Amino acid sequence: MSYLDKLNPTQRAAAECTEGPLMIIAGAGSGKTRVVTYRIAHLIDKGVDPFNILSLTFTNKAAKEMRERITAIAGPDAKNIWMGTFHSIFARILRVEAEKIGYPSNFTIYDTDDSKSLLRAIIKEQQLDDKLYNVNFVLNRISSAKNNLISVAEYKKNEQIQADDFSAGRGKLKDIYEIYAQRCYKAGAMDFDDLLFKTNILLKQHPEVLHKYQHKFKYIMVDEYQDTNFSQYNIVKRLAAVHNNICVVGDDAQSIYAFRGATIQNILNFEKDYPELNIFKLEQNYRSTQNIVNVANSVIKNNKEQLKKDVFSENATGEKIKVLRAFSDNEEGKIIAESIIQERSVHGLNYQDFAILYRTNAQSRSMEESLRKLNIPYKIYGGLSFYQRKEIKDLIGYFRLTVNPNDEEALKRIINYPVRGIGDTTLNKIIAIAGERNLKLWELVSDFHLHVTGRGVEQVMNFATMIRSFQAMLSTHNAYEVAEHIAKQSGLLRELHADKSIEGLSRYENVQELLSGIKEFSEREDIEDRGLGQFLQDVALLTGDENNKDKDDKNTVSLMTIHSSKGLEFPHVFIVGLEENLFPSQMSLSSRQDLEEERRLFYVAITRAERKLTLSYASSRYRWGSLNNCEPSRFLDEVDPRYLDLEFTANKQAATAYSEERVGGKERAEFAAKPKIMAKTTQMLPKAHTPSPDFAASDTSQLQVGMEVEHERFGFGKVINLEGNKPDIKATIFFKELGQKQLLLKFAKLRIC
Ligand code: ATP
Ligand code: MG
Repeated sequence: MSYLDKLNPTQRAAAECTEGPLMIIAGAGSGKTRVVTYRIAHLIDKGVDPFNILSLTFTNKAAKEMRERITAIAGPDAKNIWMGTFHSIFARILRVEAEKIGYPSNFTIYDTDDSKSLLRAIIKEQQLDDKLYNVNFVLNRISSAKNNLISVAEYKKNEQIQADDFSAGRGKLKDIYEIYAQRCYKAGAMDFDDLLFKTNILLKQHPEVLHKYQHKFKYIMVDEYQDTNFSQYNIVKRLAAVHNNICVVGDDAQSIYAFRGATIQNILNFEKDYPELNIFKLEQNYRSTQNIVNVANSVIKNNKEQLKKDVFSENATGEKIKVLRAFSDNEEGKIIAESIIQERSVHGLNYQDFAILYRTNAQSRSMEESLRKLNIPYKIYGGLSFYQRKEIKDLIGYFRLTVNPNDEEALKRIINYPVRGIGDTTLNKIIAIAGERNLKLWELVSDFHLHVTGRGVEQVMNFATMIRSFQAMLSTHNAYEVAEHIAKQSGLLRELHADKSIEGLSRYENVQELLSGIKEFSEREDIEDRGLGQFLQDVALLTGDENNKDKDDKNTVSLMTIHSSKGLEFPHVFIVGLEENLFPSQMSLSSRQDLEEERRLFYVAITRAERKLTLSYASSRYRWGSLNNCEPSRFLDEVDPRYLDLEFTANKQAATAYSEERVGGKERAEFAAKPKIMAKTTQMLPKAHTPSPDFAASDTSQLQVGMEVEHERFGFGKVINLEGNKPDIKATIFFKELGQKQLLLKFAKLRIC
């Protein structure tokens, strides 16, 4: 039997249609990636030299898997295919051609940390306000300019951009962009976006180079085409211009990177660019059971901006989809860990058959803790395990130093983070003097003025005073009180909060999540010592077992954000945290486009499941340092109840004593599936707020972080930060409907609830 017989007739026709432009826009699990794989094998089989094939994938993992499959069919020559991510392939080409655009062939690639540190230096030299010109924000702006092929000169000329920057008080962005570009150039360095941006420049300015690669790449293929940005689109278009043998596959329903500049326009443009285009539609899903496919369809049909597709499955009907409800995020983790144990033993499954998908990185904490408690091996993909993340280690560094001032690693880690004028020179001096005088670092630091004079003394003394003030709280306050105080007073929370980029928000959420975990710890009734020292010990025990490191990932549960799960598949998938303001995320609630992108994300998550899908939500979750009631996600209401397991109730064991204690035994944690019974509206956009009848702005001088407030127009919210001095105190408030806003208290029409 030929390997092509392993494709259905339409897939096969697409694989055999090797000449001319080809587009497959088809639903999840319909075999798009499989077609690309077999198509390449077929090309090699027909005698095409693998060196003439370019195949672009979204992740290195996908490239590796594809290459392995092709090798299995077409033999070892498959190693010569040009296959990889956009970044890896074009970095490779730039290595050969860089000198033509003035870079050395051994140019350095700056990673995000390098880029940020350079930008920080520039912002400082230019004496700009580093809050207004927050480094992550600036890097995002430069990145998005590059991904839209806007050079420094064009940035300066573009009236719209200039007007926007100017009205935001950031008129100097153009200068930062210019200096940054010059410095990178001088240093012979390219950042990630440059790898594509400079490739565009190379191909545009050097026809002979373009010609060479146009002839080299006789066949070009792009998987996950829906998530390419303008810069990538342009490269592909140029390269394919001679042979026109370009095949793109994707699914508009899975476009989830609009926030990074990917645009559906690329799919629409493709039809315009190639009028003689062959379009194939694949509608049969081979991955999932009928119930899973039906659930996915029932969700995605709520999106207005969607190309019409009728995806169906001929696989078994399969089990209905379960919806689990837990009382808290921790209990959600516990219930899921227990189901994994149970499913595994009842159905003889392996750990690798399970994946837990979440919307935000911070959610991994409660999952990880529950899995560790039951000794379930797991691996986090596309991200670090919670306690390995930098911002978490930084804050824990403060805790460690507070509890144990002799912890030198902790001291070195945080003495100048956030930046407080104790640079490397001073730190090196501290280390050297301590060595000479045989002192512990802290002994030297805490009496620094007795040992050293001159630069840096005052800063070091201030630092020591701050740490001593934290230590003074240890005997009188519980872990949460000390931790929260440290997070604020150290400046760490402020530093993270100022960063409004997607990554910055995620770091801020992670720290809030850590504080929430500590709060829960401080409220436990089953332990005597609720101090910070005890908490650190618990964490050390959790993270100390190296069980999660370098483990053979063959038999581990996979944990990842939904974004990282694209293209993958697992027999049993859990999608957790299906709550309003979490998924869909708070930030997506103000526009239809954003909400539709969230829904596509939910669609991606559902369609990762092969045999079994479980959705879960918690009715309370610690966020922003306090316990919040959560409403089930509107997405749960969108799932057609015919495919839900409405009978599935009460695994009573799952109702832990812990939760009973917490809610006073009033209710029990149940597995419940009652989507239509959930009393809640499913509006797309927040309603305008009608103030309470007795609304009158109240005296806000008593306002404190954590308080609930009502704003005349913005509605209800919670105070998450206060900064500045009277009368100019600024409050950051998270409004239920609108998300985060910063208000000057003296003008805000607020009422403390
Ligand atoms: P996604 O949109 O999630 O990237 P996809 O369209 O790329 O999905 P694939 O990953 O190629 O889909 O295929 C999904 C699953 O179905 C894979 O396990 C694949 O091997 C299997 N499959 C696809 N087509 C067939 C077929 N004709 N016969 C048997 N199995 C198939
Ligand atoms: Mg795929």
